[in-house]
Amino acid sequence: MKPYLQEAIWKCQQSGIGVMPEVVDAMEKVDRKLFVPSHEKKRAEMDHAVPILSGQTTSAPHMILMMLCAATIRKGEKVLEVGTGSGYNTAILSILVGNEGKVVSIERIRDLIDFAKQNLSKIKLPNNYEIVFGDGTEGLKEQKFDKIIVTAAGPFIPAPLCWQLKDGGIMIIPVQDGYFQTLLKVRRLNSGEMNRGAYEKYLEANVKYPSIEIEELMAVQFVKLVGKHGFES
Ligand code: SAM
Repeated sequence: MKPYLQEAIWKCQQSGIGVMPEVVDAMEKVDRKLFVPSHEKKRAEMDHAVPILSGQTTSAPHMILMMLCAATIRKGEKVLEVGTGSGYNTAILSILVGNEGKVVSIERIRDLIDFAKQNLSKIKLPNNYEIVFGDGTEGLKEQKFDKIIVTAAGPFIPAPLCWQLKDGGIMIIPVQDGYFQTLLKVRRLNSGEMNRGAYEKYLEANVKYPSIEIEELMAVQFVKLVGKHGFES
């Protein structure tokens, strides 16, 4: 097993998030070196975030492992990723959900769309993913997802993404919390009133949210989520 993956597993265990063997298997199948610029290949073999293009990074493997395990991604699910970046996480998601599943990944920087598509074309993946240019804080109207993975931190949880979760669906998202960022697990509830008071600091003011439950997972560090329901560019 790749040394960075062993380190990622250890960190995931320490965090209290259960390690899913299927996520580890999918990560083993994707060569991270193919998803970084040529001068960063050495760093891609370590459990570190790696700079890609346009001032963005591809997250550290342990963070990807923790997010995908916390989301309990399973075969056949429909997953939205906000922040395609290098396409590395998209490749892992594509393997995880398999032929019966679907992955849609949104990115707001055009150069990264091209970069991710090139990287993804280097490996054999199920024909189940789509890379879309746009503002991921608005999600994809008219679509519903089992899981949403947001790979950049905004000032609050974008309400449109909550509405696009299926009942019982889970979103993993980092949110700015004062000087820090907190990784949140958001679950859409089938029914019942939302107690906005308890979650106020994670919600956009004067915006209607569906009924959700929020769990704080850990302190994290991500690049900024920029968009209509994120930070200004
Ligand atoms: N998942 C990526 C990977 O595996 O390489 C890493 C993503 S990087 C940590 C975060 C990405 O989110 C950046 O590429 C950034 O351009 C993108 N991003 C920021 N705000 C966004 C938005 N509103 N919509 C879509 N992408 C956004």
